Amino acid sequence: MQKRKIKKGDTVIALSGKDKGKKGKVIEVWPKEGRVIVERVNVAKKHQRPSRNFQGGIIEKALPLNISKIMLVCPRCSEPARVKSKDGARACVRCGEAVDKVK
Ligand SMILES: [Zn+2]
Repeated sequence: MQKRKIKKGDTVIALSGKDKGKKGKVIEVWPKEGRVIVERVNVAKKHQRPSRNFQGGIIEKALPLNISKIMLVCPRCSEPARVKSKDGARACVRCGEAVDKVK
């Protein structure tokens, strides 16, 4: 059974950590490492000094999360859901709808 079913562009929810319950879009996936970067989740704030190209201030950077700490949010029923394989595509186990068709 393939467990890593998160893809770039998926909406996911954080299952633990300081951002538990927060939703965001997956912007990067490293399947081998089992890590993902999720928009606005696990964000570190960093003070940046002014430079030639940057006026200075606080920059926010999303740090990688372990893939086991997130769960896919079904674009159809908007619930955190496991996915199953259906005709080679991913489908939500809650509503049975294909996850990948929805943009
Ligand atoms: Zn669903």
